[in-house]
This record gives sequence, C-alpha cells and structure tokens, in this order.
Amino acid sequence: MSGPNETTEHCCPSSPASTGSVLLGIVGPSGIAYVTPRMTVSADLLEDLGREEDLEKRYRFADPCATTGCKHWSGRDCRLIDQVIESGEELGRESEASLPKCSIRASCQWFAQRGPSACRVCPLVITDRA
Ligand code: SF4
Repeated sequence: MSGPNETTEHCCPSSPASTGSVLLGIVGPSGIAYVTPRMTVSADLLEDLGREEDLEKRYRFADPCATTGCKHWSGRDCRLIDQVIESGEELGRESEASLPKCSIRASCQWFAQRGPSACRVCPLVITDRA
C-alpha cells in the first residue's frame, strides 16, 4: 500500500485560467465542447477571452495539479472527481461509451485516477474558482 503523495506529474482539468494553461473546452448547454488540437493560452488569448470573474464558468482550463495547494487534494489523489462520479453516476451510465476527444488525456489526473468513469462525467463539470 502506498502512502500519501504530495506530488503528481498530472494536470488538473478544472484549473483557473492563466497564461500557459490549456484551453480544455467551452461550456455549452449540453456540456463541454472540448478544444482540439491542444491549445495553450497565450497572454493575448487570455485578454481576448476577458478576465471577468466568471471566465471559468464559460470555459474549462487545465494546468499542473496543485496537489497540497488545492482543497480537493486528499494527500494521495483528487477528491473532486470522486465526488462528481458519485453524484453523476446515473448520467455517467447514460453517456455514450466513446470517450470525449480531449487534448490532455495522457496527463490528466482525473483519468489517471478513475479512468473512463472520469471522462464520462467530465463534460458536466463547471469550474468554481472559489
Ligand atoms: S477526465 Fe477525461 S475527458 Fe476530462 S480532461 Fe481528463 S482525460 Fe479529458
């Protein structure tokens, strides 16, 4: 059994917007429309998107996982995706079997932790910066 892990090489698919983060997707009425190929957020793009308080409610961004700097980090993994899977279990079952085409799967903390179950509920997540 492994002990608490304070570091991870993975990235968080529900991060605050910042220069250098990945624009993961755009929030739409039926979930996230994932942006592919991978698009890194430049200072100009961030300016174009606007710096309003609710930017993360309109877009999803990915950045390196903050581990101990995030309230969702358990010391071993991310509690948020566990909670989302639990609350969206039925929705997850109803989702199509094929996974969304996203640009970060190889480095995604949620996928590393929960596999395809994470991807089935991922489109439903709206980032809460608070
Ligand atoms: S949970 Fe799945 S769909 Fe969402 S960002 Fe990670 S790999 Fe992509």
